[in-house]
Amino acid sequence: MQCLYIFKRDVYCLSNIMSSIFVPPPIQRINSEIAHHAGVALDVLRLDLMHPWVNGNKWFKLKYNLLEAKQKNLTTLLTFGGAYSNHIFATAAAGNLLGFRTIGVIRGEERLPLNSTLSFAVQQGMQLVYLNRERYRQRQTVELQAELRQQFGEVFIIPEGGSNLNGVRGCMEIIEAVGAVDTVCVACGTGTTLAGMALSLHQGQNAIAFPVLKNGDFLAAEIGNLLTNYLDSGMPAPNSTPASWELVCDYHFGGYAKVNDQLLQFAQQFTKDYNIPLDYVYTAKMFFGVMDLLQQGFFQKGDRILLIHTGGLQGNIGIEQRLK
Ligand SMILES: *Cc1c(COP(=O)(O)O)cnc(C)c1O
Repeated sequence: MQCLYIFKRDVYCLSNIMSSIFVPPPIQRINSEIAHHAGVALDVLRLDLMHPWVNGNKWFKLKYNLLEAKQKNLTTLLTFGGAYSNHIFATAAAGNLLGFRTIGVIRGEERLPLNSTLSFAVQQGMQLVYLNRERYRQRQTVELQAELRQQFGEVFIIPEGGSNLNGVRGCMEIIEAVGAVDTVCVACGTGTTLAGMALSLHQGQNAIAFPVLKNGDFLAAEIGNLLTNYLDSGMPAPNSTPASWELVCDYHFGGYAKVNDQLLQFAQQFTKDYNIPLDYVYTAKMFFGVMDLLQQGFFQKGDRILLIHTGGLQGNIGIEQRLK
């Protein structure tokens, strides 16, 4: 009993610390000619401003994973990602801030000197381990995870991108305090963020997700499964059916982390015009898509549209170096 009480208190304390280190995301109006012409109100939810390092949707996907680790009395987090991963970056920083040891399992061979994402992770105390691409593909298997547990002891394993049901649960909180909107737009990698938002939107509101990878249509089935699994899990959900959502797959710009001059120029101009920095992998593609759809008359007059700025700005350093 005593023990149980202490457990609960630990989780409660951690939850309080979490609320105290993040600022609530501001909402910024975009006064653009295009939005004005389309007769819509265009706002941005700036998740990128919640914390200098642990920002964006990656924080929401981590939150309940960290709370579950705490509840299980596990002090080490182990997770997976590519060498430029926003999730690796956020996990390293969150672990450091909130008192977890972190291990990052990185796809591919070690390359020295470390790039800016991985050197930041190391500075935050993350231990890096590398798996070749073939072994990395096995990351979700019981065998590989057992091997990792044997090597590193009792660890709390978080999937790549924080994309599990805890991740969905956290993403339900993204739009908790946004007030009246009709349509929410978000960039989409795995769809975990979209799934969480679809569960917390009211009926009558809807969400549009912009896959940043090629042939993103396959995500519809995955998101459908994620929603079913979440609703079947017994985890808290405000609605018993998700709000309506759709994928717009035309703005991937050639695939994941692919960019072209048009996208780069758009992002730079957008930053200049509205004082909102965009990352090239995710948010620039979604913002481009929304502005393009507005010009095509996709939205209805009077719509209140909220774009989710999911962060990820640390990744621009890697892309800019690659383009040099
Ligand atoms: C990871 C990421 C996404 C995609 O989130 P999913 O939940 O995988 O769809 C979107 N934007 C940014 C900036 C990200 O880092």
